[in-house]
Amino acid sequence: MSELLFDFDNEVPQKPVKEGPEARIAELSDLLRRYQNEYYVQSRPSVSDAEYDRLFDELQDLENKYPEFKKPDSPTLRVGSDLEADFAEVVHAIPVLSLDKTHSKDELMNWVSKTEKNCGRAEFIAEEKIDGVSIVLTYKDGLLVQAATRGNGFVGNDVTANVKTVKSIPLKLTEPVDLTARGEIYLPLEAFSLVNDRLAVPYANPRNLASGTLRRQKSSEAGEIPLDSFIYEGFFPEKDTLATHKQVLDRLRELGFKVNSRTTLFSAGDSQAIADYIEKEREERKTLPYEIDGLVIKLNDIKMREELGYTGHHPRWAIAYKFQAPEGISVIKGIDVQVGRTGRITPVARIEPVLVSGSTVSNVTLHNQDYIDMLELAVGDKVTVSKRGDVIPAVEAVVEKNEVGNPVWKIPSTCPVCGSTLVLDGAHHFCKNLQCSARVKGQIIFFASVAQMDIETLGSETIEFLVDNGFIHSISELYTFDFHKLKDYPGFGDKKVDLIIKGLEKSKGTEYLKVLSSLGIPEIGNKVSETLIKNGIDSIDKLYEVVDSGDIGHLTSFEGIGEKTAQILIREFSSPALREQIAALRQAGLKFQQDEPLQKELINNKFQGQSWCITGSFINFRPRTLAAVEIEKRGGKVVSQVTGKTTHLLAGIDPGSKLDKARANGITVIVDEEEFMRLLAEG
Ligand code: NAD
Repeated sequence: MSELLFDFDNEVPQKPVKEGPEARIAELSDLLRRYQNEYYVQSRPSVSDAEYDRLFDELQDLENKYPEFKKPDSPTLRVGSDLEADFAEVVHAIPVLSLDKTHSKDELMNWVSKTEKNCGRAEFIAEEKIDGVSIVLTYKDGLLVQAATRGNGFVGNDVTANVKTVKSIPLKLTEPVDLTARGEIYLPLEAFSLVNDRLAVPYANPRNLASGTLRRQKSSEAGEIPLDSFIYEGFFPEKDTLATHKQVLDRLRELGFKVNSRTTLFSAGDSQAIADYIEKEREERKTLPYEIDGLVIKLNDIKMREELGYTGHHPRWAIAYKFQAPEGISVIKGIDVQVGRTGRITPVARIEPVLVSGSTVSNVTLHNQDYIDMLELAVGDKVTVSKRGDVIPAVEAVVEKNEVGNPVWKIPSTCPVCGSTLVLDGAHHFCKNLQCSARVKGQIIFFASVAQMDIETLGSETIEFLVDNGFIHSISELYTFDFHKLKDYPGFGDKKVDLIIKGLEKSKGTEYLKVLSSLGIPEIGNKVSETLIKNGIDSIDKLYEVVDSGDIGHLTSFEGIGEKTAQILIREFSSPALREQIAALRQAGLKFQQDEPLQKELINNKFQGQSWCITGSFINFRPRTLAAVEIEKRGGKVVSQVTGKTTHLLAGIDPGSKLDKARANGITVIVDEEEFMRLLAEG
C-alpha cells in the first residue's frame, strides 16, 4: 500500500483535542486521505466532490496562511493515490500528475493572461475534462504492452488485462512505434444507466462505476461493462517529438486512438474566444453522451510547456476549469414506496423543496435498500442533493443526522398497495402479486403510452380511474370492456368515449414489433424485439417454439441478446399467465406476426445510388457493421467485394487487398475513417 493511504477503520476521525490552525490542518489532512481512499481505491466516496473540494480548499488556504504547519506529505502537495495492493505496481516513465484547478472564469482568464505574459504570444488548446479514470498506456513496436492507473503520480497499478477489454483502445497501432499515451477511460451515460440498474449497490455516477470496473479481478467481468476512452496526451521518443499539442492529437488519431473531436485550438491573444468556448460547452454539456466535470485549457506549444515545467501535483502549462457541482441542502420529510409495472419497489424521498441547478427538487429516487443503507439515511436527516449529469436528482450524503433518533429507513415487508409480502430478488424488492392494482395500472399506462401503442385519450388518469373502479384488471380487458358504460361518469362524454374506442381499434393495426415491446416484459423493449424479428423470430408462435425448446444458445447467438436477457425471455414467455394474456390480445385482433420486413430508417439520401465496400477495422465503428448501418441509413448500398460497380471504399486500419483492388480499379473513391465521420456529420 502506498504511504499516502490512510489506515482507517471506517470510523470518522475523532476531533483532535488540540485546537487552532495546526490541529485543523492535521484533521483536514486525515479526512482528505480517508476520502481519497474511498474515492480512488474503493470507488465508493462517502462525500460529494463539492464537499471534498471545499475541505481541500480550506486546507490549502490554511497552509498558505500558516506555512510552518504544512507537512511534506500534505494532500495538497501530492496527487491523490489510487494504488491498490491487489494489483502489481509499475513505475511510470512520464510524470502522471493531476491538474491545477479553478471554479472561477475570472481566475481562468487570469491564468491565461499570466501564462501569455510568461511565454510571449501563445496558442491555447481546450479540451473537455472527461469524468472518468486516468490511464497510462505504453506501446512498444505499435503493440499495447502495459496499461496502468495514475496511482500516486510516480507509481501506478497494472490493469492491462482489464484495459484490453476496452474496445476503443487499440491493441495494435497503425504503425510500429514506441510511445506512452495518457487518456481517460469512461462509461457512456446510456451504458451507465443500463448497467447500474442491475447492480446490487448502484454506483453514484459513471466515473465510480468505470473505476470499479478497472479494479475487477477478472477481466471477463470488466469486459461486460462497455467502457470507452479518449486519449489526450502522447509522449513520443525524442527523435519523433512534435512541436504542438494539436500535432500530437492528430498523430494519436492517425495511430488509431480515439481522440475527442470537440477539442478546440485558439489563436494567440484570442482570449474572448476561450471565454465564448466555456459558455458554449457549459450549455452543450447536458447533451453529451458522456459526463464531463469541466474543461482543460493547455498551452499548445510543447517547448513552452517544458520551459514552464511541473509542480509535484500538476503541470504549470495547463489548468482545469471545473464546473461548479450544483448542490443544495435539504431535509428528508418522508420516504414513500412506489410499485412499478414489473412489481419493482422504488423508495422515493420527499424532501423540503430545494433549488438545484436551476430547478426545484422535491422528490428523489433512492433506488433500493442497499443504497439507503450505504447513505445511512433516516427521515429527518439533513442531506446534500445534486443533479447527476445535471439532470437526475440524487441524495449525495447525510450532512446532519436527525435529532429525534430516527433509525436508518427500511423498506416495509408488505406491498403498500395490495398488502402482499414483498420478495427480495437481486438488489430490489418486488411485489409478486400479478393482480396488484399498482402493477396493473403501470402496465396499462406503459402499453397505451405515446411511445408504445399510442392509444388516444387513454391517458394515465383515465387508466387509474378504470383500474381503481374495478372496470379493468389487465391489458387485454381494454379490448373487451364496453366503454359506453362510462357515459354517465363525469368527464366521460360521448366524444371522449368514441375517441378511446377509435384509439383501441386503430391500435389493432400496430405492427408486431411494437405490440411485443408494449407488453412491458422486463428487458424486452424495442431493441430486443427488433433483434428477435431481424433474426427470423418474427411471430409469437416462433418465439414460443424457441422458448419451449429452452435453447438459450440460439437466442444468445443474436448480437444484442446476452445470457441474462435470454434467460428472462425463456422464463417470462413460459409463464401461463402471460400466454393467456397474449391469447386474449390475439383474440381481440392485435398483431402477433410481423407483416412487413423491418424498414431501415433513412436519415437522408446522401449516399443514394452509391455502392460501398468496407475494409479494415475502425475506432468508432466496432463491429464494422455499424459503419454499414450508417451507409444504409443514408440510402447507400453495402457490398462485400470491390467490383467495377463499387463506387466507394471505406478503408480502416489494416485495409488489406481490397484497397489495392480499389486503387487498381481507379473509379472507386477511397474514404478513410476521419473523412467518413466528416461525411456523416455533413448530412
Ligand atoms: P481532477 O480529476 O480534478 O483532474 C485531473 C485529472 O483530470 C487528470 O488526472 C486526468 O485523469 C483527468 N482529465 C480528464 N480529461 C482530461 C483532459 N482532456 N486533459 C487532461 N486531463 C484530463 O483531479 P484528481 O486529482 O484526479 O481528482 C481530484 C478531484 O477528484 C477532486 O477535485 C474531487 O472533485 C474528486 N475527489 C473526490 C473525492 C470524494 O470523496 N468525493 C475524493 C477525492 C477526489
